[in-house]
Amino acid sequence: MKKIIIAIDGFSSCGKSTMAKDLAKEIGYIYIDSGAMYRAVTLYCIQNKLFLDNEINISGLERHIKDIHITFKIDEKTQRPNTYLNGENVEEQIRSMEVSSKVSPVSALGFVRTAMVALQQAMGKEKGIVMDGRDIGTTVFPKAELKIYVTASAEIRALRRYDELKAKGQNIDFERILNNVKERDYIDQHREVSPLKRASDALLLDNSLLTIAEQKEWLMKQFETVIQKLK
Ligand code: C5P
Repeated sequence: MKKIIIAIDGFSSCGKSTMAKDLAKEIGYIYIDSGAMYRAVTLYCIQNKLFLDNEINISGLERHIKDIHITFKIDEKTQRPNTYLNGENVEEQIRSMEVSSKVSPVSALGFVRTAMVALQQAMGKEKGIVMDGRDIGTTVFPKAELKIYVTASAEIRALRRYDELKAKGQNIDFERILNNVKERDYIDQHREVSPLKRASDALLLDNSLLTIAEQKEWLMKQFETVIQKLK
């Protein structure tokens, strides 16, 4: 069967990765979380003291960008991909509130995006890939055969993130999470390079009121429709 590229874009915490991961597993494709790559660059900046009072040292990061190597490896136990930064598994660390609150300004830098987009395009060379992010359907794979643009209300997304962090034992104030979600939405939509926007040929999915099962059913239908057309 002919393999395609599936691009899933949308706001933060709208369940993109869960749906992209599940879809990839179901159809035997590789799943790539592009947000994890920007998070790994941010973690590198934190570890290498490239933040000063929340301000990123841009020229410092520009000098270091070639030393940042990001890869993914499937976890034998969970069968899900883990993110590696220079050979170290950083999957847990890149999900912290500190990284979440610092990632948007890092991902708004042109040279960071150029490096990450090149890596993402190389990962999709053979197709058979599901990638989620903000600019996958617009910049990384503008010719992707299936593009989905996901939205949900900021309150619902913050609640999902709150439940996720709570389940991991992190007790973070709901308002703080909601503010972080809204702030990231704003920066992601208004940055100069590759702002978050719906590609003209992307299908819109508002999952505020959908269950995971309903969402999966909808997604499989879209996938099968595209595959049928290619036959
Ligand atoms: O998807 P996730 O919320 O983990 O992404 C973290 C951050 O990385 C986003 O808030 C956004 O600033 C950035 N990002 C991006 N382009 C992508 C994926 C993520 O700018 N393709």
